[in-house]
Amino acid sequence: MRRMTSLLLLLCLLLSLVSCGKQETPQEGDSPGQAETASPETEVPEEVPPEPEPYDILDPTVMPEGGSRDGLTYSAWDGVVEHLFFHPIVSYPELAFNGDSEANGIDDYMVTVGEYGKILQSVYEKGYVLVDIGDVWSETTGENGQPKMVRNTLYLPEGKKPLILSYDDTNYYPYMLENGFTYKLILGEDGKIASWGKDPQGNEVISRDLDAIPILDKFVEEHPDFSPFGAKGCLSLTGYEGILGYRTQTTTTGWTEAQEANRQREIEAVRPIVAELKRTGWTFGSHTWGHIRLGGSKSLETVQVDTQRWLSEVGSLVGPTTILFYPHGERPDGDDWKKTGPIFQYLQSQGFRVFCSVGIESFSYLKKDISAVICDRLHPDGTTLRYSRQRYLQFYDAKDIMDVAVRPQREIKWD
Ligand SMILES: [Zn+2]
Repeated sequence: MRRMTSLLLLLCLLLSLVSCGKQETPQEGDSPGQAETASPETEVPEEVPPEPEPYDILDPTVMPEGGSRDGLTYSAWDGVVEHLFFHPIVSYPELAFNGDSEANGIDDYMVTVGEYGKILQSVYEKGYVLVDIGDVWSETTGENGQPKMVRNTLYLPEGKKPLILSYDDTNYYPYMLENGFTYKLILGEDGKIASWGKDPQGNEVISRDLDAIPILDKFVEEHPDFSPFGAKGCLSLTGYEGILGYRTQTTTTGWTEAQEANRQREIEAVRPIVAELKRTGWTFGSHTWGHIRLGGSKSLETVQVDTQRWLSEVGSLVGPTTILFYPHGERPDGDDWKKTGPIFQYLQSQGFRVFCSVGIESFSYLKKDISAVICDRLHPDGTTLRYSRQRYLQFYDAKDIMDVAVRPQREIKWD
């Protein structure tokens, strides 16, 4: 025992005072600020980020040894995997719904921070648990020797149902910043993902309560059984205004050295954000570089240029992905179910295997002629809160969720 203790002490010294000290969680009763406050004579280098709390990511396609883990019995799930997707959420409804030209669009496509929290609570209470979209299907070799996609059996705590979450356009587009959304993701003083932005009075705000991503992080911290495998959501990124609030994009007109230097600074700034998101269960997919329509109004060549640009400017930062989220929900070549057209074939050749649109149920279909799966997602937003209460009752009741008072006074049809 003594030997262990001295070994530990030695390890501590080797690992430096800071990283060891930060492993300890603040004692209960400490205010959040106190734990970080060092007395003036304590020399703690300011630049050293806190050691992150360990975060486990497990594979839901593997039955835990003995059929149980952490006292829970696991069982096989081959049923539907529900899939909900969100756009960025409205942090400040008073800015979003101020009657300007964007207000109705935000009402249609977004939920507010309050609605989002209630939706998470409801799906949690209804027995859904998070799984990562990348774990639901995998590629194998078919009888003809060709690769094909298959649906994986998932092993879930008994009685639980799987749920995929995805988040479109998590780019923090400049147009959104004046409209009551957060501006970017950052690492807070505690090393965790937080949002940075401005409140309606123009004050800078760093928070974990205003943005869909840290809100889900916090929810899982408080309800670890909501994410038995550590999964969070898949972030669907375009590239034309950078990613996650960092302006990492190029333009093809008038590029200067100063612009490039700024771009490189933004790239370095976003790297630790991407790393922390990945470490804590978030994954990434493409939403095309330019949010382009894939239905056939763009030429194959346009899609090729766009895809290469996404891979070079976004894929280079977030790593390889097999997930593609169709902009506007528009299916490649006009139809991705009955046919496999040139645009679909090209996208598949670039590594995409899971192709997501938007629809009225969490439909999925394994294509027969090419290794790919197409799937639809449901969309909690203003339109479905107003008009599709029944369809979403398995997740939540719009009557309990919708912030009617803060949204524009438009039609509601609840039956
Ligand atoms: Zn989009």
